[in-house]
Parts: sequence; structure tokens; C-alpha cells
Amino acid sequence: MISLVDTHAHLDLPDFDDDRDAVIDRALAAGVRAVVAIGFSPERWVSTAELVSQYPMIVRTVGLHPNHASEWSEDLLTRIEQEASDPRVVGIGEIGLDFYRDYADPEIQRIAFAEQVRLARRLNLPIVIHQRNAEDEVIEIIERNGPVRGVMHCFSGDRRFAARCLDFGLYLGVGGVATYKSSEAVRDALAAAPLDRLILETDAPYLAPQGRRGSRNEPAMIVRAAETLAEVRGIELDALADATTRNAVALFGGALAAAIRSGEARRACG
Ligand SMILES: [Zn+2]
Repeated sequence: MISLVDTHAHLDLPDFDDDRDAVIDRALAAGVRAVVAIGFSPERWVSTAELVSQYPMIVRTVGLHPNHASEWSEDLLTRIEQEASDPRVVGIGEIGLDFYRDYADPEIQRIAFAEQVRLARRLNLPIVIHQRNAEDEVIEIIERNGPVRGVMHCFSGDRRFAARCLDFGLYLGVGGVATYKSSEAVRDALAAAPLDRLILETDAPYLAPQGRRGSRNEPAMIVRAAETLAEVRGIELDALADATTRNAVALFGGALAAAIRSGEARRACG
């Protein structure tokens, strides 16, 4: 049985209110042993904390998403730091820049991102980075405010951007986008990246893989991204699963390792 980690999901969203247990059961049946729940706004810090208290196989992150940057304040930074003292918070995110949507003033986005990078550095936590139409600037802000460990969530760039991310020690988050027919440049970049810097994610309920595009995504569908990545790398699926799970633990640490053990135990019982 393969062992996978979904390093980026939003199972706390109302999209899963009617069938969350069934979604988790399907994830376990598909080989998913742990999930990182991404708390991207104050409302989502509460809902991901609830999720973590219900499911030992889930850990969480806290941060302020760039689309919510208008809520930014010094007080909010203090609250993120307080939330991050929970031992099952494994990172700061998702944070970054989004110049594709104009939900928040770019200047406030830059400040919120830089401050959260500095917080992650101080707390020695990895960051989960969201970027749209801001490839170069996101790296520049990390350069100025790091060093920090982290993942470029939903990697959808080419070899050039992959090289920039990898130079900064970042991991690349591989999900549904890598499976899309039009994503040839993404797969080319993933073929060239070191295997020990790749982790898997779904971004559920968003970004369902090729063949399911437009429908609700869920952690069980991570297998599609894993298969695509194994094919791109020319390795067996179980070897790819082992490598990406090891990488996820290297990035997110002991709390994720404990979540994986509990996922394995639950699978064994169920
Ligand atoms: Zn996300």
C-alpha cells in the first residue's frame, strides 16, 4: 500500500460539511496518510483547529492569504504567532502575493507577506507560498526577509522559475495543475528538479486533476498528481510516494510524522 501526504488542502471549508468523514475515508483508502490543513484567514484558523482536534491525521498551518491582506494589522501578526504555538501548527501559510486577483492593495500584500516571512524565520517554521502573477517579486521578498524554509504551493511555473525557487531551498508543491494537458512547461520543470524537493498536494476543493476539472477536488484524487509525477520522473509510483512523503516530513517536521503514524494506524484498524 502506498503512503501519500496531501500537503495542502482546505477540508474545513463548507464544501465538505455534508460528507467530511467519507472524504477522509476515501483519502485513507487511496493511500493518503496525512493532510496539512491550510488556515489562510482568522476564520479559517478556527475551522482548521477544529478539524485538527477531530482528526489526528491532520495538522495545520496559520497565516494570512494575500487575498485577505486588507485585514492585515500588527495585532493580527501577534495572533498568528499565538496560534503558531499550537504544536500541531506545522507552518505559516498560505502567504504571498496575488496580482491576478485585485482583492487587496499590492502594497499591503507586500507588507503582510514580508512580515509573515520574518515571523516564520523567527519561529523556525516553514512557509507555504501562494503566488499569482508575482513570480519574481515573491522571491525577492523572501530573499530580503529570509532565509526561510518553505514550499511554492501549486507550482505552475517553468524551468526558470523552478530554478529560482530551488536556489532558495524551496520545495515545489505538485498538484492538479501538473496533470493538465496544457502544463507541458510545468512537467518539464518537474522532470528537471531534484526529487528530494518535490511534495504532493491537492488544494482541495480547488484544482481537481485532468479528467475531473471543474468538479470538487478531494485528497483521494492526489493519486492522479502522484501518477503524473512518477511518469515524468520515470520511477515507480511507490518510490515516488515514499520520496514525496519523506520530503513532506523533512519540511513540516515531527508533528506531520505523528499525523502519518496515526493515519497508518487508522487505516490498519479500518
Ligand atoms: Zn490553498
